[in-house]
Amino acid sequence: MNLSPLLTNSTADEYARTVHAVVERIAGQVRDCDAPFSGTAREVLERKVTSVDLDGSPIGTDRALDEVDALFVQDAVWFHHPAYAAHLNCPVAIPAVAAEAVLAAVNTSVDTYDQSTVGTYMERHLIGWTARRIGFDGGAGVFTSGGTQSNLHALFLAREHALSVHGSGVLAAAERSTLQQRMLVLATEHSHFSVQKSALLLGLGEGAVICVPTDRDGRMDADALRLTLDVIERTGRIAMAVVATAGTTDRGCIDPLRGVADACDSARTWMHVDAAYGGGLLVSPTRRHLLDGIERAHSVTVDFHKSFFQPVSSSAILVREAADLARSGWHADYLNPDDADEPNQVDTSLQTTRRFDALKLWTTLRALGADRIGAMFDRVLDLTVQVHRIVEDAPDLHLLARTDLSTVLFRYQHGGMSDLEADRLVPVIRAAMLASGRALVAKTVVDGRPCLKLTLLNPDTTAEDVRGVLAIVRATGERGLDSLRSLDLAEDRALLASGAVAR
Ligand SMILES: *Cc1c(COP(=O)(O)O)cnc(C)c1O
Repeated sequence: MNLSPLLTNSTADEYARTVHAVVERIAGQVRDCDAPFSGTAREVLERKVTSVDLDGSPIGTDRALDEVDALFVQDAVWFHHPAYAAHLNCPVAIPAVAAEAVLAAVNTSVDTYDQSTVGTYMERHLIGWTARRIGFDGGAGVFTSGGTQSNLHALFLAREHALSVHGSGVLAAAERSTLQQRMLVLATEHSHFSVQKSALLLGLGEGAVICVPTDRDGRMDADALRLTLDVIERTGRIAMAVVATAGTTDRGCIDPLRGVADACDSARTWMHVDAAYGGGLLVSPTRRHLLDGIERAHSVTVDFHKSFFQPVSSSAILVREAADLARSGWHADYLNPDDADEPNQVDTSLQTTRRFDALKLWTTLRALGADRIGAMFDRVLDLTVQVHRIVEDAPDLHLLARTDLSTVLFRYQHGGMSDLEADRLVPVIRAAMLASGRALVAKTVVDGRPCLKLTLLNPDTTAEDVRGVLAIVRATGERGLDSLRSLDLAEDRALLASGAVAR
């Protein structure tokens, strides 16, 4: 009598009823969403969550979903809201969200052919499309969970490549380890932290990531790179890889890809381009040239869940030479034996069981076409140009860096404020804005000083919307300044009263 909770032949109607109800509910939530966040305090959220007894009596699907709504959906952060301008999160394309529902229900795992059949070819076709957009004609690649994994995978391939070039064939553990201790990765101080983390995971030595100097906007200096590569060669170290970033996370700057490629070619070093952020330029109708030179990389990271308007997770690593990716393979008798004659995606991935995330981008491309996606990213970049101008023209806002993409690094500081006060206000403003939930911004550090950051990734956001966010920054800043000053005053008085400060 009890209906199975599993999605099977006999429960298809129940599945449809349940999921339709959820979709209706989310549609209502999105329709009525008037702020990117409810502003509910962290302690309240924590208490709401920990008060749920996971060993308590089961409440059934409908009530469990009511609870999810009350507990999670009401207090989630909405990246599609025009006042959301904090991190690299995009609003998502409807065809992709629909495809997400398909892949969740079908539950394909893209590991061996006998688990993913046609999905194997769809992922490969889409990878081939991306590779051609990069300019990798015989390229290969695979979808990953995100830029962090794509970067790790790329640097793993670079390490294996370096071992094959510098080692003596089949490597004993000791030789491997000795070679790895000589390996260096060249990046910049603005590269993503996953480069450092990957070096650690890959067993490279302490201090293996060298920061190449940059120009004043934070782009890698290709001449300095060349000099650094020379020194590495002369001192008997191994330049395992150079990581150029096409869109640094904070500044949105693109390293000079051609200059980096020239230096890498002369030193015969693996060039990786981390285009997690700037990958959207691959389909830009007006700005594709910003990625010129990317086709000379050995490997490229693209995050579709940033500039292609895809739901998390959706990323890929691409390589110019398909043979390089083969180093990711590992053969298991039960899964993908050496003599398998079927195309097994697991041979190309760091993961085994893996989501069919490719279906989301596939559906989006078929629904909208590449130009439309690129035009949406272009709109974001045009908006950013406008916003930079707005910030530059405002006497109480200070633009701190230029961008090639869509970040705005700035500080709130009017004439009556000291530098120290402006610095101290940065975390105060960010936290107070999160606490109100009306608009969300991020904070970071530029040239050693804290600053606020907007990351624009919503093509439907207007300059007026951003003016609204900036107005909230100002109002929040003024309130923050008042309380900073009164706190300081109170502290001074307390110190005076205690006699700790000589009068
Ligand atoms: C976001 C980002 C990453 C990390 O990607 P995830 O998808 O968050 O793992 C790597 N590199 C750059 C330049 C990024 O902006």
